[in-house]
Amino acid sequence: MLTSDLDDVRRTPFSPADLARLLARAGVIPHPFKARQQIHIGSDPGQLAIVLKGAVSVAVQLDDGFSIEAALAGAGDWLGWPPTAAHGQFTAALDGELGIVSLDALLAQASAVGRPAPDVLALAAPLVQRVSLNLACQARHSVAQRLARRILDLSRLGGDLSTVPMTQDDAAMALGVQRTSVTHAAVRLQQAQAVRVVRARTIIKDRALLERLACTCSRPRAPAADPRHLQVSRLPSVK
Ligand SMILES: [Zn+2]
Repeated sequence: MLTSDLDDVRRTPFSPADLARLLARAGVIPHPFKARQQIHIGSDPGQLAIVLKGAVSVAVQLDDGFSIEAALAGAGDWLGWPPTAAHGQFTAALDGELGIVSLDALLAQASAVGRPAPDVLALAAPLVQRVSLNLACQARHSVAQRLARRILDLSRLGGDLSTVPMTQDDAAMALGVQRTSVTHAAVRLQQAQAVRVVRARTIIKDRALLERLACTCSRPRAPAADPRHLQVSRLPSVK
């Protein structure tokens, strides 16, 4: 059920060419980041961000003050929240680059290319949808299943990496569990010969096996996940 829901997620209402043109005209500000650097974006409703390269772990602050990972975002994913939704805090999970763009500039450019404003405001909707799917995953699936899924998602977002940068502390934060639970789950995945964990890295030894051990809540692999489709290298730097 979750998988077919995810398949239905439309990541952006723009074609890649439209999107590249729109971003270029709206003056996107490239914002490179390093692994585990924290970037705060959700608190400014006047800004939207798009992942240009790499992967970003999107965390939300819960009412009780705890911050948990709500979704992984990859190239082509928009980060932003409707004014009524919880504020997000975005943390880098892999090296990458965000593009930050003012909502006003984006709306003006959208109107210039004949896009109605609601299309632009709906950009972040797939992310919000993934947040709720991820929270459902948290309630339904074991830590080992979710750890396996996270390793696969990180690998995909990095372009099918065979070695994923991930510490057990990162994973514990991301999965919203104690570090000891992550350690137990990692031991199980290692005993199954699916992965090997070395310090801050996880090496995928048997991807097919890891897929079988993972829950089915993986983020979709959409065409836009390939940064080449975004033609970001042709975007001008900011003024
Ligand atoms: Zn799941």
